Amino acid sequence: MAGRLAGCGKAYLPATCGEEKPALKGRTGAAIDRAKSNSPNKQEVIMASERTFSIIKPDATKRNLTGAINQKIEAAGLRIVGQKRIKMSQSQAEGFYGVHKERPFFKSLVAFMTSGPVVVQVLQGDNAVLKYREVMGATDPAKANVGTIRKEFAESIEANSVHGSDSPENAKIEIEFFFKPEEIVD
Ligand code: ATP
Ligand code: MG
Repeated sequence: MAGRLAGCGKAYLPATCGEEKPALKGRTGAAIDRAKSNSPNKQEVIMASERTFSIIKPDATKRNLTGAINQKIEAAGLRIVGQKRIKMSQSQAEGFYGVHKERPFFKSLVAFMTSGPVVVQVLQGDNAVLKYREVMGATDPAKANVGTIRKEFAESIEANSVHGSDSPENAKIEIEFFFKPEEIVD
């Protein structure tokens, strides 16, 4: 299928692995569940899934928080289907955060992201993009909800322990930036 996510199997809804079905386009979460409850193909209901991209940032790896963070991710029902510990290069960090290159914190952000090991991960589950953003909490830990990763672990607005994709489209781009299809196993 054109536009299909790399490594995405046929068990996934088109909404997560390429073009959405017209009937589901623009709908999320509960709306999709409702739409699917009327679907003649009940298998789609069971297999609705999405992938998102996660980074455990240097401030967290430095404090040995990889396990504690992944415990929250897994407890939320997200499955880690790709994972590697890497040292981001300068060009990787500049490319990954290219969208922020005009922001005043860009240089400092790149220096931070290359300052130590990171764990890059592919997460999979129902509504994974939104769900993981909720588990992470707000960018600024002072504004994050109780129980979120950033509220519990982040050191500052910059050293905020985790990254998560902000849309399914960006998730696809970010996953392909760091992972080959064969490195994702579900
Ligand atoms: P991420 O993209 O890492 O998941 P986010 O989507 O919550 O975080 P963005 O606005 O995309 O936030 O910012 C990307 C990253 O840049 C933040 O996670 C943080 O590390 C850093 N950052 C954002 N705003 C600031 C700021 N005002 N000062 C310093 N660093 C910042
Ligand atoms: Mg962001």
